[in-house]
Amino acid sequence: MNTPVTTIQDCINLVKKELQTTYPDTEIRSFINLIFGHLFSYSPSQLYINQNQAVSTNNYEKLATITEGLKKYRPIQYLLGETEFYGLKFKIGPAVLIPRPETEELVQWIIESFRDGNPTILDIGTGSGCIAVSLAKFIQGSKVFALDVSTYALEIAQKNARLNKTTVSFYVDDILKPQTKINLPLFDCIVSNPPYVKEQEKELMQKNVLDNEPHLALFVPDNDALVFYHAICNFAKQHLKKGGWLYFEINEQLGESAVELMQTKGFSNVELKKDLFDKDRMVRGSWKI
Ligand code: GLN
Repeated sequence: MNTPVTTIQDCINLVKKELQTTYPDTEIRSFINLIFGHLFSYSPSQLYINQNQAVSTNNYEKLATITEGLKKYRPIQYLLGETEFYGLKFKIGPAVLIPRPETEELVQWIIESFRDGNPTILDIGTGSGCIAVSLAKFIQGSKVFALDVSTYALEIAQKNARLNKTTVSFYVDDILKPQTKINLPLFDCIVSNPPYVKEQEKELMQKNVLDNEPHLALFVPDNDALVFYHAICNFAKQHLKKGGWLYFEINEQLGESAVELMQTKGFSNVELKKDLFDKDRMVRGSWKI
């Protein structure tokens, strides 16, 4: 992008021209709304009204970097360093997954079930903190804790808790080898969206996911796809109150296996739930013993 530009409209035209051989028009339009919304805090209609506004060199340079990244198929959320989840803004970076709409449905399920009662909640493998922070924000009186194995992820999650004016207690821990040192209370709800994509599914995945998102947060061995679910069920049995609930996001192919696992581990009222795309995506069960 060497051409000198002066106004928002000129910049929009330039972005369109730069991306037109790489993306369909509808996608370019939504990139433009996101980029200019990010740089100027304008809605699409404000953008239109202010199209003759001058663009600073600083913003022009940011725009050029973002456009170059898009041409290399880098996800827009990483290029902007932020995204939206459950109506809240979240910082993100290469150490964390981009929050997915399916996970918003998991959050919705928990909010509906725990709206009253000041629950104590733990999110395992919190990543960007999108689940923990949304629950802390929208369940009044909740006390939310969150774990992750990655200190990089926890730095981002901390920022997101602050950004959204919530209090979440964060801990670094590996759920496959949990440290008993951490002094946690008993929980009303434990939730996790752990890695669940099988290595063999890699070839079906979009290249921009594979090339940009943290494999640590995505993949599990083909022959042990529920490794995190085993570990989390065992952990939950020690850390849930009697009558507490364990919630998971799951691989759409593993609905029945996840239900069976929870039942075998001693959970009751095990329930499978589909996402908006009609895929088995969530499971929950209660701890009665
Ligand atoms: N839903 C994510 C994806 O399909 C995977 C999330 C996960 O592994 N927990 O890319």
